[in-house]
Amino acid sequence: KKRVYLFGDKKADGNSKLKNLLGGKGANLAEMSAIGIPVPPGFTITTEVCTEYNILGKDSVIEALKENVQEAIASIEKTMGTKFGDSENPLLISVRSGARVSMPGMMDTVLNLGLNDEAVMGLVNKTNNARFAWDSYRRFIQMYGGVVLGMKPKTKEDLDPFEEIMEHLKDKRNIVLDTEFTVQDLRDLVYDFKDAVKKQTGHDFPTDPWDQLWGAVMAVFDSWNGDRAIYYRKMHGYPSDWGTAVNVQAMVFGNMGDNSGTGVCFTRDAATGENIFNGEYLIDAQGEDVVAGVRTPQQITKLGSQRWAELAKIEETDRAENYPSLEELMPTIYAELNEYQHKLEKHYCDMQDMEFTIQDGKLWILQTRNGKRTGAAMVKIVIELLKEGAIDEKEALLRIEPNKLEELLHPVFDTNALKRAHVIAQGLPASPGAATGQLVFFADEANKFKNTILTRIETSPEDLEGMNIAKGILTARGGMTSHAAVVARGMGKCCVSGAGALKIDYKNRVLRVDGKEYHEGDWISLNGSTGNIIEGKVATMEPELSGEFGEIMELTNKYSTMQVRTNADTPKDARIARNFGAQGIGLTRTEHMFFQVDRIKAMREMILADTVKGRKHALEELLPMQRDDFEGIFEAMQGLPVTVRLLDPPLHEFVPHQMATQKELADEMHISLSAVKNKVAELEEFNPMLGHRGCRLGNTYPEITEMQTRAIIEAALNLKERGIETKPEIMVPLIGTVNEFIEQEKIIRSTANKIFEERNDSIDYLVGTMIEIPRAALMADKIAKHADFFSFGTNDLTQMTFGYSRDDSGKFLNVYLEKGILTEDPFEVLDQEGVGQLVIMGTERGRSTKPNLKVGICGEHGGEPSSVEFCNKTGMNYVSCSPFRVPIARLAAAQAAI
Ligand code: ADP
Ligand code: MG
Ligand code: MG
Repeated sequence: KKRVYLFGDKKADGNSKLKNLLGGKGANLAEMSAIGIPVPPGFTITTEVCTEYNILGKDSVIEALKENVQEAIASIEKTMGTKFGDSENPLLISVRSGARVSMPGMMDTVLNLGLNDEAVMGLVNKTNNARFAWDSYRRFIQMYGGVVLGMKPKTKEDLDPFEEIMEHLKDKRNIVLDTEFTVQDLRDLVYDFKDAVKKQTGHDFPTDPWDQLWGAVMAVFDSWNGDRAIYYRKMHGYPSDWGTAVNVQAMVFGNMGDNSGTGVCFTRDAATGENIFNGEYLIDAQGEDVVAGVRTPQQITKLGSQRWAELAKIEETDRAENYPSLEELMPTIYAELNEYQHKLEKHYCDMQDMEFTIQDGKLWILQTRNGKRTGAAMVKIVIELLKEGAIDEKEALLRIEPNKLEELLHPVFDTNALKRAHVIAQGLPASPGAATGQLVFFADEANKFKNTILTRIETSPEDLEGMNIAKGILTARGGMTSHAAVVARGMGKCCVSGAGALKIDYKNRVLRVDGKEYHEGDWISLNGSTGNIIEGKVATMEPELSGEFGEIMELTNKYSTMQVRTNADTPKDARIARNFGAQGIGLTRTEHMFFQVDRIKAMREMILADTVKGRKHALEELLPMQRDDFEGIFEAMQGLPVTVRLLDPPLHEFVPHQMATQKELADEMHISLSAVKNKVAELEEFNPMLGHRGCRLGNTYPEITEMQTRAIIEAALNLKERGIETKPEIMVPLIGTVNEFIEQEKIIRSTANKIFEERNDSIDYLVGTMIEIPRAALMADKIAKHADFFSFGTNDLTQMTFGYSRDDSGKFLNVYLEKGILTEDPFEVLDQEGVGQLVIMGTERGRSTKPNLKVGICGEHGGEPSSVEFCNKTGMNYVSCSPFRVPIARLAAAQAAI
């Protein structure tokens, strides 16, 4: 088995197709090398070795790798003309993680490995640059100490132990920036760092480069099972057996002085999707300095630099002198970088996120990957790539992540409210959106209030979970490519970064700006599109959807074979869904209408009535209201099919349970309080979800079915008179036996016929049923002989197939998910393996007696992408989901059909 893959010197063993084996980073380093992009030579240890490590442990993995790695190091030595561990001309390397999908900052990297007290002297002599050599050495101890030796801050308010030593020295020397340290300072730091390591871990810092190397490789493997990586995998549903690859690569140095630097760039704007090359860099810096916000980074392009200066309120002359773009400062390097960014985007046919380093006037590319982006940028980039001819329509659809579309539907700040807003400071518009929340200063307190704005000097990978919980992210340091910005865009979360005017005091939990203080719990708002930080709350409104969004939606129609309907109980919801392209209503829950204040009384009267006559009287009061509802909904849907479900929940849900309201009801109905109480007690059930509900209501109180049918049919006839077409589909809930359906159908049809006679007019309508009790799925062939359509009610079907009460499952589901007894909440993601069998069987059996039986799904799963795919495979005619999930379901339906 090949465990080690070489790259560099315009050659490579691997290529970009081997992401599963080499990880994304390794596969792309190989690919870049092969197409002639300058990457420092190195090798990749495969993800399979990570799996071996997890099973067999350190010793046997080293045993298996030893020879290959020695050969690979020798090959790097040859290309670089240096020697690993040499005291005169040492080879230094980086050890980098890299899973098959990018998990930015989720795992750990060690730079400058191979240094010790002898090698550092070799580096000094060879480069004639003592400052650089000692700076590299102190960085190495710092990184190796943190990543491999576990030198972490003791509490969250504490600084990193190494940072603390540095801060201390800066105070003593009265300096601010890392770049102000003298050679002697750096040398002192190295010895202080080593002492700190010895003190905290009890061991000397390893001096043998090979020990250093194996330690780092194992640490990368370990980081795959670190908290951050586990959380990230959970968030995205990635399995834990993928493992990470390890990339070992010759170092190139951005910290060799004014002719060196390091940076990050994007071939397009990751926030908006605009086709503009952009990025940030720092002179005389290394590795993560740009991302970590150590100093304020500068812009790559002149245009970007000018835009940035405008936001930061910096004069043009000041900008050009003190913060010049790379384009201005190093025009030839910029031209070369620009050439590579074009080449790479063209090669990968997608927006690239690249890392580069300039060592003494020579440009090296260290990484490329498909860039993380916001939902809006995702849509814009796909449409533009399609128009550029870089991808075809099917590829365009497949590139849209259904769940990321949701971001485009989030509310934005009301333009009028923004005019009145008090802007307290300005940062960079790192990730668009509108966020309002209460200030918190620590990631693990992001859930301290319902809506929070996580406010940090800068964020780090440890903060991931808190960033995910917070409504918005605000940082005082760091640019558009900082950790906070990149992660926020990936999450589609509003973020304002690098607001330099903010003074954040973690100890006292206060934010100071312009002489004012904001404390933990104070409300602020962030405008991620402008970078404005606003005092208090700002009102929001519905977003306007861009033209590109519409173009994607049109494409979905071209390719999908299954329709998407919506679940809507009001004309307003129906209209929203229609605007999102819903092709009908798959579920109108009639009971929701009864809960409105003006109706609940009549409903309660109906329930409390002891006689058929009393019930009919109350139902007559309800009839005109229901009819109005249906007219509104039918009108909103303009001739599209509308499925109306007859009354479903147990009656107990409608009656008052508090003494005061019971008394009110008694007075109104002129009966005694005890009569009301008795009735309420009578309705109480041990197991309401398995009790007197669904068609069991209509079969015991047929007059309810009669009234509802009358409301539906009369509404349709009324609209017909006004020239509006309707397609009502009446749906009987919760049947388990065919006779339950037959009885209800009889009532529905005879009521309809009676109305047709009365009005001397008629309309077409369907009578179908929900399949939500396992027995109904089993009996589907018999039921389909009578029913015009089936709609799988997968909420109840899941509840009854698992035997999990939906209302009580909170008590154990989380534990089940944590322990891995279940991998997903079956109420969110359809259990294709189990419940899915009933859906397939129900559909097949139903169509065995009625070949063109219309089949759909209502229930939460209808808007969940993997479930939509399943429905498509099952041969359903439509899925139905809540209005805001309609675009997502349409996309998922199209993707399923491609
Ligand atoms: P991440 O996956 O967190 O981005 P990387 O492995 O890409 O981690 O490395 C972290 C930083 O170190 C990046 O800025 C990268 O460019 C830099 N880096 C990695 N290897 C080298 C190297 N051989 N020479 C110079 N810089 C490097
Ligand atoms: Mg990287
Ligand atoms: Mg149900």
